[in-house]
Amino acid sequence: MTQYVYRFGGGVADGGTGDKNLLGGKGANLAEMASIGLPVPPGFTISTEMCTRYYDEGEVFPDELREQVADGIAHIEQVTGKTFGDASDPLLVSVRSGARVSMPGMMDTVLNLGLNDETVEGLAKKADDARFAWDSYRRFIQMYADVVLGLDHGVYEEALEIAKEDKGYHLDTEMTAEDWQALVGEYKKITLDEQGEPFPQDAHDQLWGAVGAVFGSWNAERAKIYRRINDIPGGWGTAVNVQAMVFGNMGETSATGVAFTRDPSTGDKAYYGEWLINAQGEDVVAGIRTPQYLTKAAREEAGAKPASMEEAMSETFRELARVFDTLETHYRDMQDIEFTVERGTLWMLQTRSGKRTAKAALKIAVDMAAEGLITEEEAVSRVEPAALDQLLHPTLDPEAERDVIAKGLPASPGAASGIVVFDADTAEAKSEHGRDVILVRVETSPEDIHGMHAAKGILTARGGMTSHAAVVARGMGRPCVSGAGNVAIDAKEKVFRVAGREVKEGDTITIDGATGEVMMGKVATIQPELAGDFGTLMEWADKVRRLRVRTNAETPDDCRTAREFGAEGIGLCRTEHMFFDADRITAVRQMILASNEAGRRAALEKLLPEQRGDFKQIFEIMAGLPVTIRLLDPPLHEFLPHEDGEFEEVAEAADVSVDTLKRRVSELHEFNPMLGHRGCRLGVTYPEIYEMQARAIFEAACEVAEESGEAPIPEVMVPLVSTKRELELMKAVIDETAKAVFEEKGRTLDYLVGTMIELPRAALRAGEIAEEAEFFSFGTNDLTQTTLGVSRDDAGRFLTQYVDKGIFPRDPFVSIDIEGVGELIEMAAERGRGTRAAIKLGICGEHGGDPASIAFCEKTGLDYVSASPYRVPIARLAAAQAALKSSDPR
Ligand code: PEP
Ligand code: MG
Repeated sequence: MTQYVYRFGGGVADGGTGDKNLLGGKGANLAEMASIGLPVPPGFTISTEMCTRYYDEGEVFPDELREQVADGIAHIEQVTGKTFGDASDPLLVSVRSGARVSMPGMMDTVLNLGLNDETVEGLAKKADDARFAWDSYRRFIQMYADVVLGLDHGVYEEALEIAKEDKGYHLDTEMTAEDWQALVGEYKKITLDEQGEPFPQDAHDQLWGAVGAVFGSWNAERAKIYRRINDIPGGWGTAVNVQAMVFGNMGETSATGVAFTRDPSTGDKAYYGEWLINAQGEDVVAGIRTPQYLTKAAREEAGAKPASMEEAMSETFRELARVFDTLETHYRDMQDIEFTVERGTLWMLQTRSGKRTAKAALKIAVDMAAEGLITEEEAVSRVEPAALDQLLHPTLDPEAERDVIAKGLPASPGAASGIVVFDADTAEAKSEHGRDVILVRVETSPEDIHGMHAAKGILTARGGMTSHAAVVARGMGRPCVSGAGNVAIDAKEKVFRVAGREVKEGDTITIDGATGEVMMGKVATIQPELAGDFGTLMEWADKVRRLRVRTNAETPDDCRTAREFGAEGIGLCRTEHMFFDADRITAVRQMILASNEAGRRAALEKLLPEQRGDFKQIFEIMAGLPVTIRLLDPPLHEFLPHEDGEFEEVAEAADVSVDTLKRRVSELHEFNPMLGHRGCRLGVTYPEIYEMQARAIFEAACEVAEESGEAPIPEVMVPLVSTKRELELMKAVIDETAKAVFEEKGRTLDYLVGTMIELPRAALRAGEIAEEAEFFSFGTNDLTQTTLGVSRDDAGRFLTQYVDKGIFPRDPFVSIDIEGVGELIEMAAERGRGTRAAIKLGICGEHGGDPASIAFCEKTGLDYVSASPYRVPIARLAAAQAALKSSDPR
C-alpha cells in the first residue's frame, strides 16, 4: 500500500529529513525539525502524491487514505493524551496547505478544528477559561466558513462589529465569554442562512472538509495566477498538514510570533521578528493588533514602548534564540519561523528558508560564506539572478526636492514613481498601456497578486513588515511601503486623503521602499553603486563562469553602463537605433526615399561622419574588448511618416512634394515589415548602404587605433541571412571596403565578418554558411518569430493564453522555446562547428538576459551571451549558476 500519511512529533519523524517534493515545504520542514529534536506539536502530513491522485481520480478520497489518516489522528491522540471529538478533553488540530514552494495564492490555514457545541465546553473546562474556549470556537467558525465553505467572511466580521457596537466595546478584548458564546450562535445562524446547511458538528467531517479545501485551493484561480507568474508547474500538487493545536492565546504567559534568523530587509545578522502576547498566529500577520518587537535592541531603535519578547519572556526568548541557531546551522540558510508559546512552553510551528530582498540575499550569502557556513560556490548559487534587478535600479536622489505626504514602513526597498490606482485590475490595465502605476490598497490579499506584479510599487495603509503586501512585494522585488496608517483610502471615490491633501486616481506619487516615505509627484533618482557584497559575489561568480557576457548597446551611455556592470564586449550594436535622432532621421528618410543610387549615395554621404563618430566612441569605451556591429536592419515602417502633419514636414525636409512622398511611402508599404525588405535584403538591393556603414566602422577603428595605440576589435555582422550566397555578397562589400580604407589610412586591423542566425533556413544551412561566417550570433527574437510563425508585433495579444493553457511553459519571446528554437540552435551550432571548428558562437536576442535561456546556452556550449546593460550582472550570475549546475554530477 502506498504511504500517503507521514507522522511527526513526539519522537516520531516518518518523513525523516524531509522530501519537499513529497511532503511540501511546510511538511518537510516539520518532519525535519522533529527529527533534529526541536519542539514540534505532533501531527501528520498527507503527501503531494495524494493530491495528484485525488485530481486524477475525480476528486475523491480513496479508502486507504481514510485508514492512514485515522492512524495519523491516533498518533496525535497518543502523544497529546487527548481525543479527537471527545467532549471532555478534545484534541483540536490545525490544517494547513503546503506545496513544494510557498504559495501565497493558496488556502493557508484552518485553526481550532475539532470544536463543536460539545467540545467547546470540554475545552473551557480543561483550559479553565470559558472566554478563551468560546473565542476559539468563533474564530474556527469564521475561518472554516471562509476558507472551507467559501462563504463571505465580511458577513461574519460585520456580525462581530455589530455585537461590539451593541455593547459599546471598541476592542475584541472587551468581549466576555458570554459575548463570544452569543456570537457563536449568531455565526451558526449566518452559516445556516448562507449555505442552507448547519455548521458541521462532527470533528471528522470538519477534517475531511478542510483536507478537500486544501486540495481544492491548488486549482483556485489565484493559485493558478501565482503559479503562472512564478513558473510553478500545475502537476506538483499540494500537501496537507494536520497538527495538534497549541495556543498562544491562553493568557499572559502565552504568545505567538514570526521571526527571521537574520534581517530579511538588510541581511544584518540580528534576530528579527514580531510577536504578540496572548494571541493566535493570524493576529500577527493580519495587522489587527500592532505586533511588538522581538529583541530589546530592535524595540529601542524603533523607540517603541511595549516590551520586547527578550524583555518580557527572557527565558523563553533565550530558548528561542538557541532554536534559531540550531536551525541556521542545520539548514545553512536564513530561516523564517513561526512559533507559539503556550503557558510558558515554546513550540515551533514552521520553518522555511526566508524570503529576502536582493540586498539581504547578497549580504547573507557573502556573510555565510565568510562564516564558513557555506562555500563561495554555494553563495553564488544562493542569489536569484533576476533578483539583482532590485539592486541595479535607481534609488531616490538625496538632493532632489521631496514633498513627503506620508510615512509608512519600509517594506521592500527601491524607489518607484507612477500614477495612483486603487485596484489590481486597473493596475494591470494601465500598465499594459505603458503607464507606470503605484497600487494603493488598504491592505493586499492574494487576489491582488496580478496588480502587484503589474505595478511599479505598492502602498498600503495597514499591515506590518510581515504583512501580505510586504512579504509578496519583497519576493517580487517591487518597492513597497506598508502600514502608512495616516493614509485614508476611499477606493470607491478613487481618492486617498492624507495630512489635509487629496490624491486622486491618476495623480503621480513616488514611494521609497527603503525609508517608507510617500511623496507627491515624480522624484529624481540616482544610479546604484555596485560595490561591497555585490562586487564580492560577482567576483565569485566570474571565477566559476565559462560563458562570456556581452551587451546589446549602441549609445555611449548604455555602453558605459554595461561596461561598469561587467560586460565583456558588445554582442549587438543595432545600427538602425543610431538613426532615430531628430537630426539624423531626415538623412535616413532621404536615403529611403531616394529613387536611385545617386540619391541614396548623397544621403549616405551625410550619414557617414555621424556613424564614424558613433563607432569611434563605442570603440573607445569598449577598448580591448570585441565589438559586434550589425549592419542596417531596419523595419522600414519605423522610419517613414504615418500622419498627415508628418508628411508635410518630411516632404519639406526631404525636398520633395507631399504627393511624391505619399506615392513613395505607398510603394514602400509592406504588409509585414518584420518579414519584409529588411536585414541583408537591404544590403543586397542597395549595397552602397552597407558599404557606407563598413567604411564608417573601419575608418573609426583605424582612427581609434591611431589615437589610442590600441586597435579595436570590430566584428561586422550581417543580419537576417538565410543563404550562403547573401553572406558571400555582403562579405565581399565589407572586405573590399576594408581594403580600401586600410589603403587610405596606411594600416590594417584584424576584424571578423559573421552573421546572425535568425531564420530557420540559416540554421538548417549553417554548415555552408560557416564557410563564409567567422561567427554566428543567434538572433533568437527573429528565430522565435520565424520558427513559431508568430509575429513579434502581434504575439502579445494571445501568447499569455498560450502560457495559461500550458501550450508553452513560458512566453517563448522571454525564455527560449528549448524544444523548438533550441533544437535549431543546437543543430546550427553543431553544423557551424563541423565546417569551422573555431567558429565563435553567441546569442543576442532578448533571451541573452534570461537565466533559463542562459542555462540552455551553457549546455549548448555557446561562447557568449549578450544582454541589455542592466541585465549584464544577471547574466553573469546566471552563467555562473549554469556552469556550477553543469559541473555538478547530480
Ligand atoms: C534578434 O532577432 O534576435 C535580434 C537580436 O535582432 P532584432 O531584435 O534587432 O531583430
Ligand atoms: Mg533580428
